[in-house]
Formats: sequence, structure tokens, C-alpha cells
Amino acid sequence: SQKLTRAEWEAKARALDLHTQAFIDGAYVDAASGKTFDCISPIDGLSRGRVAECEAEDVERAVRAARRAFESGAWSESSPAHRKRTLQKFALLIEKHAEELALLESIDMGKPVGDALAIDVSASVRCLNWTAEAIDKVYGEIAPTPQHELGLITREPLGVVGAIVPWNFPLLMAAWKFAPALATGNSVILKPSEKSPLSAIRIAELAMEAGIPAGVFNVLPGFGKGAGEPLALHMDVDGLVFTGSTGVGKHLLQCAGRSNMKRAYMECGGKSPNVVFADAPDLQAAAEAAAIGIFFNQGEVCTAASRLLVERSIKDEFVAMVVEAGKYLHPKHPFEPGAPMGAIVDEGQMNRVLDYIEKGKAEGARLALGGERVMTETGGYYVAPTVFDEVAHEMTISKEEIFGPVLSVIAFDDEKDAVRIANDTDYGLAAGVWTSNLSKAHRVAKKLRAGSVWVNYWDGGDMTAPFGGFKQSGNGRDKSLHAFEKYTELKATWINL
Ligand code: NAD
Repeated sequence: SQKLTRAEWEAKARALDLHTQAFIDGAYVDAASGKTFDCISPIDGLSRGRVAECEAEDVERAVRAARRAFESGAWSESSPAHRKRTLQKFALLIEKHAEELALLESIDMGKPVGDALAIDVSASVRCLNWTAEAIDKVYGEIAPTPQHELGLITREPLGVVGAIVPWNFPLLMAAWKFAPALATGNSVILKPSEKSPLSAIRIAELAMEAGIPAGVFNVLPGFGKGAGEPLALHMDVDGLVFTGSTGVGKHLLQCAGRSNMKRAYMECGGKSPNVVFADAPDLQAAAEAAAIGIFFNQGEVCTAASRLLVERSIKDEFVAMVVEAGKYLHPKHPFEPGAPMGAIVDEGQMNRVLDYIEKGKAEGARLALGGERVMTETGGYYVAPTVFDEVAHEMTISKEEIFGPVLSVIAFDDEKDAVRIANDTDYGLAAGVWTSNLSKAHRVAKKLRAGSVWVNYWDGGDMTAPFGGFKQSGNGRDKSLHAFEKYTELKATWINL
């Protein structure tokens, strides 16, 4: 499929039969109000149809269905081996429809279809398979008690889980939530972003086809205020998991507190520092990784390497190398084979990115690459890879998450200075350090306040390790066995012997 031409992808896109309704209690339905919203593709700015706009009444229906399904025990009390087999089937069906799902991601949010296929869809399949494989290998514990009693420590599903996800990796961010939630026996109500609802809607019927009972997996397309908030405030939702911006994450924690103290876990934003020392093992490789680290997925990545901290003695030479690497990453039509970047998710986000670029110039940073909208003839929303050199740590572009292809380069003088600048942020999602000095690598990695730290590369990760943030990048962890903690309650059962 990676070899398909643009014309072949375009033919497949024309043949798509788009699903645009909500999925509640095992069936596609319109929103109770009959309302719909426009699904505009950022590839060309044109509408692809209208999607059901769910609101409180639909949330109510979905929660009732999810609760009923949970209480029936058909899924929640089924054996881990059964849930494993079913989720593996679900993974297989996603794999079988990989091209279609990759196309939906690309059309909905503008990423290169090749990336959607090779990364988003395949990582979602891996997430489901890994989680399914793990679930029948999780044991309980026995408390170290005196002879006359037995203390059993077990985990039980929360019940009904609401999952609110963003648009940058629509399917994958959803999979990180629904895979462990379903594996542990919960019912799920998934609220995809209004900017990218199509893949979530499509996989709902694949979940049914795999054998997940009606009501266990529901999808409610709609807006944050209209559909997300009633879910977050609902008194009969037991868990709320979220990936998105820090502002909304903080608000949702309040919703959980104001309602029924539902378990609430937030994966939020980042402004990740990528620290390059003069003794990096391979400066060329470091420069290429720095460029891909910020420009991959149009910079719309929570772990984007958005702050490049470079030791002053090599700064000019290194920036020139990053700029050179960046030139090869210009956006192309997302169906173009090997397109390194595609379109920004929508016009609003593109304008936000362009505003940050203007702020960078106004605050005195030096524009070293890009800095403008490109490919306007397509009608779509494309921004050139942009590098700002001579950024002062206090500037807006160094402080705020831009969520676009804009890199800020900051010089540092020594190790202490590098760690101070790297950690001087409200965020703590990811960080990188490049050095061939083993002790320095360990020292700096230990001091960096971030949930993921990469030494001599960027953006590694796998289902085998937890992912999440320090500080205002969030709480809780996705992926690995640690993810199960978010979807289960611990119970201690005491037996008098
Ligand atoms: P967003 O916070 O605007 O929206 C995320 C989701 O929340 C969407 O589904 C949206 O409809 C919903 N929402 C918005 N307002 C709401 C409200 N008042 N009540 C309930 N739901 C509401 O984020 P976005 O623009 O979709 O995504 C970009 C953000 O996501 C960035 O900050 C990025 O760093 C973050 N992100 C984090 C991770 C991570 O794992 N830490 C991964 C990907 C993206």
C-alpha cells in the first residue's frame, strides 16, 4: 500500500462510503436533535459531508446503554481469555481495513496517508494486540497476613468509562484508551474530536463485528461543550480519560470533582526540550532527528521537539544543518507517496500557527526557515517547516505550545544552564539529550522533569513502556501494564480462616 500512487489513493477516496452517524447500543443513529456539523477536509478546504452532532440527550442514551451492558456481565464478567480473543479479532479487522482507515485519518486531519497507514493504523493494531495479549496474564495479590486470615487484592473494572480524544492521531489516541478500558471489562463511550470523527465512527461497527456486545463500545461525535462536557459531568460515568490540551484537561478535572468524583486521567500538552551538547555522537543524525522531531505530523504532536536547546559553541553550525534537513520536509499533497508533511488540521489551527510565527518575528527571533502558508492553490491549509534561531527563553514561541511546524532554537552555555532552561516550563511530557559522555547522559536524563526522556534519539516508544506527563502535561499513564491502573479499582477482600 505504501507504493500506491496519488491517483490510486484518490480513486480509493472517491469510492469511500463515509459513516457519519453516532454509534449507540450497537447501532448507527442520528443525534437526537437531528443536528449535524460539517466535515471539512484540510487537504482542500472542501466538505466531505455532515456528521451527527451529539449533545446531552445522546450522552444520556449512551450512558444508559453502556451501564446496562456493563451490568449484564456479558463483557464485564466474561473471562479474560474471551476478551483477549475478541480484542484480537477487533485488531485483525482494523488491520483488514487499514487502507480505508488511513484514508479517513488523512482526509479528516490532513496527515500524509502513508504515515497514517504505517504509523497510526499499525500502532493502533499493535496497541490492541499487546493489550489483548496481556490481559489474561495479570494476576491479583495476596496480602502478607497472619495465619487466621486471607487478604485477597484484586482489580475490578470501573464500569462506564468516557474517553475524550484529540485530532492529531485520532485512531491511535482512541486506541490507547479503549484497548485497556475494554480489556479490563469496562463499557466505553468514545468522544472523538469534532475535527476528526470519521475513523472512530467507522471502527464502532468493526468492534461489533469482532463480537464486542452492544452497548459496550459507543461513539459520540460532537463538540467539546455539547458532547464532551455532559459526559464529564455525568453522575453515572465512573471514569473519564482524556487526551488533549492542558486547558481542557484542567477543566475536566474540575468536572470530575464537581460531579461524582469519577476517576479522571488527563494526557495533555507539551513544550518539549531537545538538548544537544557539542559532544553529541553524530551531529548530522542529531540535526535530522531534530527536524523530524518537530516537523513530523505537521508539528501536531504532543511530544514535538519544539524547543531545540543547543550548546553555544556549535549552535550556528548545528542550526544550519537543521535548516538544511528541514528543507526536505516541505508539505506535499497528503496522498503523494512519501509526503513528509501534509495539511494543518483546519483553518483556525493554521491561523493560530501563523499568528505564533508573527509573534516570533515581532519579539525579535531570527527566522531561519519557512514562516509562511504554502500551497494556497489547493484551497487547503499548509504551513512551511519553520525554524526560529536566536530565540530567548522568555519569548512566547519558547513558552507556549504552538502545535504546528515551528521550531525555537535556544543557545545554552553549560550542563546546568541546559537543565535549567529545559525544566523551566509548565509542561513535562518529553525531553531529549544528545551527548557521547555516558555520565553526562545519565545525569541530565535524571534531572529532566519529563515522562519520557530520549538519549541520542527522539520519539522512541513502544507498548511495553508507560507514556504520560509530569507537571501540567497530565496525570496517569497510557500504554504498558500501568495503563490498566486507570481502568480498574483495587479491592481488598478479607477472609476469616
Ligand atoms: P482540545 O483540548 O481542544 O480537545 C481535545 C478533546 O476535548 C476534543 O475531543 C474536544 O472536543 C474535547 N473538548 C474540548 N473542550 C471540551 C470541554 N469543555 N469539555 C469536554 N470536552 C472538551 O485538544 P486538541 O486541539 O484536540 O488536541 C491538541 C492537544 O492535545 C495539544 O495540547 C496536544 O499536546 C494534546 N495531546 C496530548 C497527548 C498526550 O498524550 N499527552 C497526545 C496528543 C495530543
